[in-house]
Amino acid sequence: MNDLNKQVTDELTRLGADLTGFGDLAALPSDMRSGLPIGISVGVRVPREIVRGITEAPTLAYWDYYHSGQDSLDQLAEAGAEYVRALGYEAFALTRKNTQFVGALRSALPYKTVATRAGLGWIGKCAMLTTEKFGTAVWFSTILTDAPLDCAEPVNESKCGNCPACTDACPAKAISGKLWNANLDRDEFFDAAKCAAVARERAKERIGVDYSLCGRCIAVCPRTERYLEAGGSDAIA
Ligand code: SF4
Ligand code: SF4
Repeated sequence: MNDLNKQVTDELTRLGADLTGFGDLAALPSDMRSGLPIGISVGVRVPREIVRGITEAPTLAYWDYYHSGQDSLDQLAEAGAEYVRALGYEAFALTRKNTQFVGALRSALPYKTVATRAGLGWIGKCAMLTTEKFGTAVWFSTILTDAPLDCAEPVNESKCGNCPACTDACPAKAISGKLWNANLDRDEFFDAAKCAAVARERAKERIGVDYSLCGRCIAVCPRTERYLEAGGSDAIA
């Protein structure tokens, strides 16, 4: 890690990031990455008490956190981009309002793609970014930049192995069980439309919200369970 990597990591950590990584995106089409070659992937863990609540179904606490957590993540990315610009480089925060979609359920440059390029984890069978430290209980944003940062070795293969947990637990049967690799399109192992439809039904039924919200695959992941077991409880943000 060069000095600039450390400086940016320290600042993002001070701003609230739990994971920071640097990914080389130069091989991706230029318009996907706003002409900038590097993606800074920034992750914030979902609080343990929230995750513990969604083992069976979505909760109102998860619904509330869904908004406040995403807002905080956007603010973190904006503040991080501003910091990198103040150092003299171009930087663009890929917040929700800046995200381009190339289909109903697909963004042009998914946060999780950048996170794999930044070496922070792999795409799990449930299509969530999966990490050793927080399992799937971590949300990501991206800052695109031309700053001369050292980039990580990308993760190109799944580490899910023969784990059946999310496949078995998914009420939508949206998870095929096939292992991800960097050359596999999401649609080849995960049915996003089925997930969205059943998650909407469950949120309506359980908490009266007309929105696709489930999260069961997050709570049952053994890597997430390890994160839950590691730290007791924490205050809900
Ligand atoms: S969010 Fe729910 S419905 Fe969607 S993949 Fe996960 S467990 Fe299945
Ligand atoms: S539950 Fe198992 S298969 Fe699913 S993402 Fe976690 S480790 Fe991978």
